[in-house]
Amino acid sequence: MAAGMAAALALLARGGGPARALPFGCVRRLHTVYQSAELPETHQMLRQTCRDFAEKELMPLAAQLDKEHRFPAEQVKKMGGLGLLAMDVPEEYKGAGLDYLAYSIAVEEISRGCASTGVIISVNNSLYLGPILKFGSEEQKHKWIAPFTGGEKIGCFALSEPGNGSDAGAASTVARLDGDEWVLNGTKAWITNAWDASATVVFATTDKSLKHKGISAFLVPMPTAGLSLGKKEDKLGIRASSTANLIFEDCRIPKANLLGQLGMGFKIAMQTLDAGRIGIASQALGIAQAALDCAVDYAEKRMAFGSPITKLQAVQFKLADMAVALEGARLLTWRAAMLKDNGKPFTKEAAMAKLAASEAATAIAHQAIQILGGMGYVTEMPAERHYRDARITEIYEGTSEIQRLVIAGQLLKAYRS
Ligand SMILES: Cc1cc2nc3c(=O)[nH]c(=O)nc-3n(C[C@H](O)[C@H](O)[C@H](O)COP(=O)(O)OP(=O)(O)OC[C@H]3O[C@@H](n4cnc5c(N)ncnc54)[C@H](O)[C@@H]3O)c2cc1C
Repeated sequence: MAAGMAAALALLARGGGPARALPFGCVRRLHTVYQSAELPETHQMLRQTCRDFAEKELMPLAAQLDKEHRFPAEQVKKMGGLGLLAMDVPEEYKGAGLDYLAYSIAVEEISRGCASTGVIISVNNSLYLGPILKFGSEEQKHKWIAPFTGGEKIGCFALSEPGNGSDAGAASTVARLDGDEWVLNGTKAWITNAWDASATVVFATTDKSLKHKGISAFLVPMPTAGLSLGKKEDKLGIRASSTANLIFEDCRIPKANLLGQLGMGFKIAMQTLDAGRIGIASQALGIAQAALDCAVDYAEKRMAFGSPITKLQAVQFKLADMAVALEGARLLTWRAAMLKDNGKPFTKEAAMAKLAASEAATAIAHQAIQILGGMGYVTEMPAERHYRDARITEIYEGTSEIQRLVIAGQLLKAYRS
């Protein structure tokens, strides 16, 4: 564990810097200049540790990983050593014992270095470990969490299917009890980490007549008999993270691998995604920050009509709009994380954060390319990768349209009550 992270953990253990101490106002960041005095000391140290790691270990490699579609195994192991694979998992299960604000900061910093690596750790933290921590039995927590905290093993989350993504309640993968075993049949689609994972949380229907109330969650080791992987998807962005189908054909798992109660799967999935959206919002922030950094760096050096293009008001206006969108999205994301840390409802706020951060990331990455001109369009500069990486944040863990439905639903409920 790096000295910075160890010191941050020690401070937290002494009760230093809980999330609620964070003031909302005046948080500004541009390029490498940070007003880090706004964050509690623990979170500042964590951020510095993650930033140093991202700049040293990820940024120099990100373009190559993207080009080769290569899983950053060595870096994931190192991040496990830093506690970044299981950030809010208590120490008794070998986690870092931090909070969701810390998690958001870490995912942002790691994604600023490499967006693929950002989603790899986000899925392990929020989508794999999250539901086990919340809904697992004590025995399941020890068995399925502890080995997935150190970076040697990672997990995945299998909800989507070829026939239903947004309409997750229409799952057609089936689980049938046969003696002391569940038998799974069906195909899960688009599963992040699929090729690199050692276990998955999978959702399958145990009673079709009950529709979404007939869905249950299961823990499945990988590899296992009856479970095969589809081809690695050839994606627009986040190309260093693997995405593939999981195909279940009479896949038998012990009865004890049911996660939570029978029929609770849809609720587990939705609550897991609420938290996961904070992770994806944070990934989007990291991509947006990287794009803004790149645009400022370039614009300060690029000469046109006798001076750097940062002298042009048209460029300045673009940079100002990019910074405002980024800061606004960051505050929404931190608010959602802090609500979760304080045990308050955060469904609407997490959806707002994801919507704002993902749309900010795509808009900022778009404008970064514009500011770089031709150099924005070629792989010599990272702007085109940020543009490609940003796009997925508007799709997975609920599309922007689904976030709007969630926000409007919660908003109207509050008005009507
Ligand atoms: C790279 C990648 C990684 C992924 N990782 C995972 C993973 O790890 N685990 C997992 O389970 N899934 C994963 N997914 C799946 C992802 O969550 C879904 O793609 C997403 O939820 C959208 O579902 P869909 O693709 O079926 O689109 P559809 O649901 O078919 O939607 C198509 C369009 O219709 C719109 N739409 C649908 N319903 C409504 C509605 N009610 N109102 C308004 N508009 C609507 C959508 O917003 C979208 O624009 C991943 C996807 C990708 C591409």
